[in-house]
Amino acid sequence: AKAAGKGSYRFFTPELAERLVDRITRSANLKHAIEHRELVLYYQPRVCGKTGALTSFEALVRWMHPSRGLVGPDNFIPMAEETGLIVALGEQVIDLACAQLAQWREHGLPLLPVSVNASARQINEGGLSAALAAALQRHGVDAALLEVEITESATVAESRIATEEIAALQRLGVRLYVDDFGTGYSSLSQLRRLDLFGLKVDRSFTARLLHSDEDHELFRAIVSMAHAIGMQVVAEGVESREQLQSLIALDCDQMQGYFLGKPAPAEQMPALMEKAVPF
Ligand code: C2E
Ligand code: CA
Ligand code: CA
Ligand code: CA
Repeated sequence: AKAAGKGSYRFFTPELAERLVDRITRSANLKHAIEHRELVLYYQPRVCGKTGALTSFEALVRWMHPSRGLVGPDNFIPMAEETGLIVALGEQVIDLACAQLAQWREHGLPLLPVSVNASARQINEGGLSAALAAALQRHGVDAALLEVEITESATVAESRIATEEIAALQRLGVRLYVDDFGTGYSSLSQLRRLDLFGLKVDRSFTARLLHSDEDHELFRAIVSMAHAIGMQVVAEGVESREQLQSLIALDCDQMQGYFLGKPAPAEQMPALMEKAVPF
């Protein structure tokens, strides 16, 4: 949608000034947080739909604020996207994920891939694959241990940079997933052309799965469509045994959600890995 054009203007009210000051303060604080490495990653397990074995962990960023405590990503990611800080933030997330993998390896744990989230901006402005390659090398981590989740809108972008970034990530050997699938406007042909590894069905579809036959059939259609073009399907937001059972019956490849495990600090992951099938 087109916002007010360049020719239009708004009166600069005290309220607007206050909001601007607030935004500048918040982005300065986030910049400080990135520089002082106050960001931490929580990890959420993902399991195989065929065997129930642990397959990977999604890294989800949190801000360990010195006075406010743990702050969730919804409180700062949108602002980071607007201000462009998301690029520095994203690079730190990749560095933290690779450092974690290296630490787990040092402890002799069976390594499973870690999946990091990338914003559309990181893809559309380029530099993501280079940052990723550098972090993998810095920590001596195999590219096969990293997965990248990109929002559906980034896959729709027809920009040359986005297409090149996606190709460069694939050449590195990292698996790519479309995140929040079903909330954007990607088409079957676009997904097929990009040749991504899998798609993560947005959790709103999982939430509605048992509401009606139509919702159930819709999920089935997504799974068969994905499989027809050689993509894996990950269901997000699995919160009950009933949902899990339906998803297994629908031939869903991987599942993730509170029923299987909430995002938790890295220290809690080794206990899960002991039971895991090594990568
Ligand atoms: P997302 O990538 O779709 O991640 C899934 C979100 O759903 C996470 O919220 C997770 O905690 C939550 N979730 C997982 N299982 C369940 C469930 O069973 N039920 C419900 N209701 N929720 C569940 P979180 O950690 O607050 O992250 C929110 C969003 O922030 C993420 O959505 C992602 O878009 C963004 N985000 C998180 N970390 C990063 C990052 O490092 N970089 C970027 N660019 N974005 C990030
Ligand atoms: Ca995600
Ligand atoms: Ca998602
Ligand atoms: Ca998703």
